[in-house]
Amino acid sequence: MRFTLLADFLSRSFDILRRYATLDAIGLAWGHTGFVQLYSTYYIQLFAWIDCPCVLSQYFADNRDVGKETMKNLKKTLLGTAAITGMVAFAASAALAADVKVIHAGELLAVPGTASKSEQTVVIEGGRITAVLDGYRDAGDFGADAQAVDLKDKFVMPGMMDMHVHIQMELGPNSDSQRLRMSDADIAMQSVHYAKQTLMAGFTTVRDLGANPEQLYALRDGVARGWIDGPRIVGSGGVSVTGGHGDVDGMRPDLLEKYTSKTICDGGADCRRATRRAIKFGADVIKITATGGVLSDTNTGTGQQMADDELTEVMDTAHSLGRKVAAHAHAAQGINAALRAGVDSIEHGSYADAESIRLFKETGAYLVPTLLAGATVVKMAESSDFMSPAIKEKALRVGNDMAGNFAVAYREGVNIAYGTDSGVSKHGTNAEEALLMKEAGMSEADILKSATVNAADLIDMSDSLGTLEAGKYADIIAMDTSPLSDISAVLNVSFVMKGGKIYKD
Ligand SMILES: [Zn+2]
Repeated sequence: MRFTLLADFLSRSFDILRRYATLDAIGLAWGHTGFVQLYSTYYIQLFAWIDCPCVLSQYFADNRDVGKETMKNLKKTLLGTAAITGMVAFAASAALAADVKVIHAGELLAVPGTASKSEQTVVIEGGRITAVLDGYRDAGDFGADAQAVDLKDKFVMPGMMDMHVHIQMELGPNSDSQRLRMSDADIAMQSVHYAKQTLMAGFTTVRDLGANPEQLYALRDGVARGWIDGPRIVGSGGVSVTGGHGDVDGMRPDLLEKYTSKTICDGGADCRRATRRAIKFGADVIKITATGGVLSDTNTGTGQQMADDELTEVMDTAHSLGRKVAAHAHAAQGINAALRAGVDSIEHGSYADAESIRLFKETGAYLVPTLLAGATVVKMAESSDFMSPAIKEKALRVGNDMAGNFAVAYREGVNIAYGTDSGVSKHGTNAEEALLMKEAGMSEADILKSATVNAADLIDMSDSLGTLEAGKYADIIAMDTSPLSDISAVLNVSFVMKGGKIYKD
């Protein structure tokens, strides 16, 4: 009979263990805490089972010869094991609680757009900021194992955020042939490399506005799980019209068929379907191409390409499913149509006119200027011959006009969020956009704000990102000199922390 009880006990144990292991496998993170929690829960469950009067009486009814002594011994053993497990759990949680970092910042710009302060202490626990304090506080005040991080001779600020990147590509003379030579796996590995370059340049969050969605979402999720060193990624799903800038071009017909995305649409209803499909497969944000673009190898210019009904359907559908919409747009007519339809950001915005400025201000939509893309394509058009005549013409015209148009929008008070179009320019050079913004007349303070506070607002993450305040993620960068007096300081980020983890020091 003792054997029966033991067998029941073991079978019950395995059952509970299996249930939790399955639960764990389908959802819970399998970290050390998960492991300890799993075993504590397992013992608690067993204990509850043994202690439950009904189960006990059932057992005594079924096993009359099981003496009280047996039960006492069994409970003692379980109590001992539970105590040990409890101790292990406690030790593990103490070890987690001990993951405290205390940064001493020589100059701290905690909230871009407000004044920086000298000699500040930033306390970080479990990946988030718990306090920002005046003066240098002893790390020991925040726990025996708290780690001090000495940035006393640095300028410290929130990690920068780039609202327009393409992490799976880098434009160059061989981009076309690479596209045909490289496998999906090759491109995925390459994007891991680009993601790391971006993070090391001080960009702790990016919004990717155009890529193979399946690979992009895998990269985004891999970074979030801590498998890959990269910035937080907000991943887009693209919706564009047949023959438009977001459609494939410049290939033989059978390849055009093969590579045509399932979210290419024509007409309002079809664009509604495409938007829903993009969201179904994992898009955090919808990217549309309201007008023609520089890098399409077609003579379609840079005018409006998506019709008003198509724009309206995309916006309404995306917003109803909780997603924002970013519109690539150069010509004023396309910018204005997208703004009227309720778009959340205009990318490039090269030829915004007075009506565009009025609509920007009325709707509160952001302009993501991507001046670096303009400067890059001009340089490429002038110094290399890999661009087709159609692309070259647009590159020289649009590239040279972008900065002037941006200057007007900035002066007029349009909301600006930092974005580079990296992938046109090289990954890891994202900070160069700041120099171009400065050249166009934007103040250093506003540039830093556009890359932090404004960007966080654009992706609806102001509660977690964009400033260094209690409760926010510890996404923190540092540089040797103050970018508030010379913006080029952002080119040399020497310290990068994301979610409390130091990636570069
Ligand atoms: Zn782009």
